[in-house]
Amino acid sequence: MIDAWVYIEHDSGEIEDVSLEIVGRLNEIKASLPLRITGFSFGRDPGEIPRKAISQGVEHFIFLRNDLFSFYDTQSYVNGIEGIVRERRPDIILLGATYQGRDLAGRLAARLKTGLAANAITLNIDEKGLLYTGVPGYGGRFIAEIVNMKARPQISTVRQGIFRKLPQDNSRSGEVENIEVKFGDFSPRLRVVERVRKDVKDITKSERVVIIGNGAGNNLKPIEDFARLIGADIGVTRPVADRGLAPRDIQVGSTGVSLNSKLVIIFGSSGSNHFVSGIERCKNVISIDVDRNSNIFNYSDYCVVADMFTILPYLNRRFGGQ
Ligand SMILES: Cc1cc2nc3c(=O)[nH]c(=O)nc-3n(C[C@H](O)[C@H](O)[C@H](O)COP(=O)(O)OP(=O)(O)OC[C@H]3O[C@@H](n4cnc5c(N)ncnc54)[C@H](O)[C@@H]3O)c2cc1C
Repeated sequence: MIDAWVYIEHDSGEIEDVSLEIVGRLNEIKASLPLRITGFSFGRDPGEIPRKAISQGVEHFIFLRNDLFSFYDTQSYVNGIEGIVRERRPDIILLGATYQGRDLAGRLAARLKTGLAANAITLNIDEKGLLYTGVPGYGGRFIAEIVNMKARPQISTVRQGIFRKLPQDNSRSGEVENIEVKFGDFSPRLRVVERVRKDVKDITKSERVVIIGNGAGNNLKPIEDFARLIGADIGVTRPVADRGLAPRDIQVGSTGVSLNSKLVIIFGSSGSNHFVSGIERCKNVISIDVDRNSNIFNYSDYCVVADMFTILPYLNRRFGGQ
């Protein structure tokens, strides 16, 4: 039996989609392999988390309890999971490529002296339990297949929005283990003074997204107005996030998020490989760029060669703005 564990990341009991997407993919693989899918999570109180995860395809759930797990802290979480991984020796551990998942995976892999494949977009397992992860290389120009032949467990983070969750089915059943983690004399170096929730939209699920590229300079307002007028959410390319003009959470691309939108309108992006890997699953892509040779046009359904600041006032009036 191949033992695959999935980190079921949650925020106050709300499970991250990517965790369930990984579970969905493992269930597809399980149709042709003897695979046991275990979810694991941390917190003070499991609440509904195990039941929700089981209803979406987890067969066995391990909930690690301790007061220190009431907020994410790398040290506490890694100390909490390390012992149980050493004792039970899962073949595979998969985590979502979220901020938390990336952080936890790196530290855990280093502790266990094993490898880590980051940001996988394909996942396959063979009958010997070898995990094959497809990871985009050189800005998405090719997919490198990574296999960890020796060290165990095989650990990988998995990109959001690639795989499908199973539909929720409350008749699914599974085993739940609640484990009280004892830390001995460990005291965390991090103390949370205040928790502030950022009000940032998850644009991976948005139907319409307007993307602000570097060509906009610091003048984001007319594009933001346009997005509001057509009921779209905002995404940005990396230079815009780098300049602190928008939160990193809405950066689109290989080190940002991947969109699944019906409509994407891009203002002033040259279409680097790192950026376009974030829009390749979108249905209709419209791009506006002054440079008719811009690479973004090779990834667009409609190409507008124009200065955005010339056409934006017209567009905004056309959609009812000032
Ligand atoms: C490891 C790594 C990871 C990366 N990850 C990402 C990522 O996740 N996302 C990402 O976006 N980038 C990422 N990058 C950066 C990426 O390589 C590019 O540098 C970046 O995408 C360029 O952003 P841009 O297209 O907005 O800007 P630019 O390349 O500067 O393009 C600006 C475009 O705007 C046009 N323009 C200028 N003025 C106007 C105007 N008035 N009207 C219309 N058009 C105009 C120009 O003709 C040009 O085509 C990554 C890079 C590395 C090395």
